[in-house]
Amino acid sequence: TRTPVNVTVTGAAGQIGYALLFRIASGQLLGADVPVKLRLLEITPALKAAEGTAMELDDCAFPLLQGIEITDDPNVAFDGSNVALLVGARPRTKGMERGDLLEANGGIFKPQGKAINDNAADDIRVLVVGNPANTNALIAQAAAPDVPAERFTAMTRLDHNRALTQLAKKTGASVSDIKRLTIWGNHSATQYSDIHHATIGGKSAVEVVDDEKWLTEEFIPTVAKRGAAIIEARGASSAASAANAAVDHIHTWVNGTEEGNWTSMAIPSDGSYGVPEGLISSFPVTCKDGKYEIVQGLDINEFSRARIDASVAELAEERDAVRSLGLI
Ligand code: NDP
Repeated sequence: TRTPVNVTVTGAAGQIGYALLFRIASGQLLGADVPVKLRLLEITPALKAAEGTAMELDDCAFPLLQGIEITDDPNVAFDGSNVALLVGARPRTKGMERGDLLEANGGIFKPQGKAINDNAADDIRVLVVGNPANTNALIAQAAAPDVPAERFTAMTRLDHNRALTQLAKKTGASVSDIKRLTIWGNHSATQYSDIHHATIGGKSAVEVVDDEKWLTEEFIPTVAKRGAAIIEARGASSAASAANAAVDHIHTWVNGTEEGNWTSMAIPSDGSYGVPEGLISSFPVTCKDGKYEIVQGLDINEFSRARIDASVAELAEERDAVRSLGLI
């Protein structure tokens, strides 16, 4: 029998947590033959709700679930952690300035980064879901100097999945016919969904679409503003699709991308494509043997360049803001 993988989920009692935990426990995160132990981190007032979720997890009798621990102490939550999904974050409330938002999240992600540094397993992989995800990941990473920087990632897989479906609907293709789509930059309204290297059934996506107006006026903004559209329709923010994307992100990182295709992950930049080194920005990546690599050598046209630069400029501003707050 295999040793269980310790999976830590923060904000476990929240909406995304509720949609996520059952998928992890059923084997969809790591594989149908990989036993898991769950560590649920919550703030003290939400511990009781987390216990309720744990009761439901018990009641599923998942064969792979080998234990659940619930705590409000990051040192306990990240003890021996192999995979950490950082979902809990301070949401932006009405009238809140960006500086206040970054500061509030610094108070969450800095101690969590330190707890990861001090307690996690050597192979720890971190995915930040809680917004502003890229910069929260940067804060956690800066607080964990003993962990290789590349283990800290942020989620743009939901944007990637949203883009796949929009493109499939436009062209009548199936999502699995679409390859090499890319989300660049920040998981925010400035993100850029790029179809210039994408193929649909082996043909150039740009040629199949053949509609630049749709690309600039519909596709890119629809993907970027999808979160707000869901809130408008559902009366609550997206949760199941966010959880699904988190599962996809980790599953791909661990198990690899298919030959000839890539995915989108926000990862610490090595300077590729003119993205300043160290910023946690979304790139096209391939994954193999548990490691990711940025796809190199893509031709970036003017249209793409301007959009990538704008999103990266926003990330640099966020980095400068958290630096001046002493958070990194
Ligand atoms: P959700 O579970 O709905 O969302 C959690 C975070 O995920 C938010 O920051 C949200 O950002 C973000 N997110 C990223 N992508 C998406 C997406 N596509 N759709 C929706 N959300 C997305 O929030 P809840 O309020 O239901 O739950 C949060 C839980 O976290 C609470 O139980 C709270 O107690 C807990 N918490 C735990 C902490 C800890 O463990 N130390 C610290 C802080 C909170 P956005 O707000 O921009 O939608």
